[in-house]
Amino acid sequence: MKVQSTTTQQDDHFLISNYDYKSTNIEKNGDKYIAKPQITNFKFKTDTRIPKLGVMLVGWGGNNGTTLTGGVLANKFNITWNSKRGTHQPNFYGSLTQSSVIKIGTCNTEEVFVPFKDVLPMVNPCDIVFGGWDISSMNLADAMNRAQVVEYDLQQKLRPYLEKLVPLPSIYYPDFIAANQNDRADNVIPGNNKLEHLNVIRKNIADFKQQNNLDKVILLWTANTERFCVEDPNVHGTAEKLLKSIESSHPEISASTIFACAACLEGCSFINGSPQNTIVPGVIELAEKAGVFVAGDDFKTGQTKFKTCLVEYLVGAGIKPKAIISYNHLGNNDGKNLSQESCFKSKERSKKTCVDDILESNKVLYPTEEELNIDHTIVIKYCPETGDSKKAMDEYIAEIFLGGRQTFAVYNVCEDSLLAAPLIMDLLLLCELFERIQFSKDTSEFQRFDTVLSWLSYLMKAPKSESGITTINSLSRQRAMLENLVKVCAGLTIDDNLRLEVRYG
Ligand code: NAD
Repeated sequence: MKVQSTTTQQDDHFLISNYDYKSTNIEKNGDKYIAKPQITNFKFKTDTRIPKLGVMLVGWGGNNGTTLTGGVLANKFNITWNSKRGTHQPNFYGSLTQSSVIKIGTCNTEEVFVPFKDVLPMVNPCDIVFGGWDISSMNLADAMNRAQVVEYDLQQKLRPYLEKLVPLPSIYYPDFIAANQNDRADNVIPGNNKLEHLNVIRKNIADFKQQNNLDKVILLWTANTERFCVEDPNVHGTAEKLLKSIESSHPEISASTIFACAACLEGCSFINGSPQNTIVPGVIELAEKAGVFVAGDDFKTGQTKFKTCLVEYLVGAGIKPKAIISYNHLGNNDGKNLSQESCFKSKERSKKTCVDDILESNKVLYPTEEELNIDHTIVIKYCPETGDSKKAMDEYIAEIFLGGRQTFAVYNVCEDSLLAAPLIMDLLLLCELFERIQFSKDTSEFQRFDTVLSWLSYLMKAPKSESGITTINSLSRQRAMLENLVKVCAGLTIDDNLRLEVRYG
């Protein structure tokens, strides 16, 4: 695709697009709103040179880590495999960037769509170099077998590639994850000195970058869900206090926060795929200083994706959800870890907040704070027999016309890591792309996006936003935001869905 427009310029290194952003400023006058449409000029500058990208996963030997690494290798080497359903080709189904499309315009009256990945230059996932850490020393071939996610024939075909990949020893603070994880912790950096731990991880990152001749590295936490750390401004509140607390091995510094700090100090962006409060204010300040991004929290894969769609549909239709009762049972190691109450609490929190802003937006249905307090219950049970095929059973009870009730009972089989792996890949590819985009407002200097990368909220269960920016949970708004941003950067027109060119030529 090539954009021919007077508002875009391209040379060998940069694509610059000019965009008139139309918004509406609302003023309140007593009980009246005064709406004042306005136009602000933005320029977006995208570095079109694609870097050699390295990715370091924390929890590399887990279900997500092995499925992602094996899945990318299967695509890279075009490995086919057999099951009772026949011969299978590798693909990237479930990846927004690789398998979804964006409408770029109309040809006569036909709408034209191209793959998301083709709108702006992006890293090819098959070119990513993977590495990482795990508290379990198993090589990735054996770990994939332990995970019981990937078909046996594909496991066998991937074995020669995966058995050479062994996770680096990691930081293990038993107090932060479930006690039932202790039996796999045989690959642990010794000692209790948190500063030494930080330095080992920093050296691992620097060595990985140098040994693989990489232009950049991104870190992503896909290790066990930790309990929340007890956040204290004196411990976590600033970069300086955080580093001091690491120096004194403060007990409320989690392993995930050490990884986040190490990433920032080595100039790498950090993504938190689990629900816990890893990205404390001190981490954000470190990231800001280093000019890297942080993003979180918790991958939005199956049940929550569906929930944010369904609730958006109901509220958008003027129907009032009154209760959401969610049951999950799962039998993978994630489920085993979540069976400990402290870790479950982290997950409950991120699963519960996912519809708040959708309800809050509609004051017709929810005129008071009290009414916003709907019954939203989360239950998670560990049931080993279920394996990675997590079952999600949700009941949605909504109030309709004249006091009637509409009830949905949804049964959703969420193949956990097969849904999560392509999503993790998207997080990495989009984070890398956003590191190459700068913007300027009116005539200001070009600058990078805010440190907390809320552009990735489509992929996050409890999206973290920059302070002062409200969180959007609606799936369609989150997707439109991403799609529109890449279109604007490429110099394409944003679709307002009026389709006037089709209706009236
Ligand atoms: P998993 O238990 O299979 O893998 C986690 C891995 O992390 C294990 O191999 C474990 O040994 C390792 N680990 C634990 N503590 C570590 C540490 N301090 N350093 C390095 N490694 C460590 O879990 P999974 O199914 O791969 O999920 C990973 C995370 O992603 C979980 O927190 C889960 O809640 C989150 N998540 C998963 C999904 C999904 O759909 N799969 C969705 C949202 C969030």
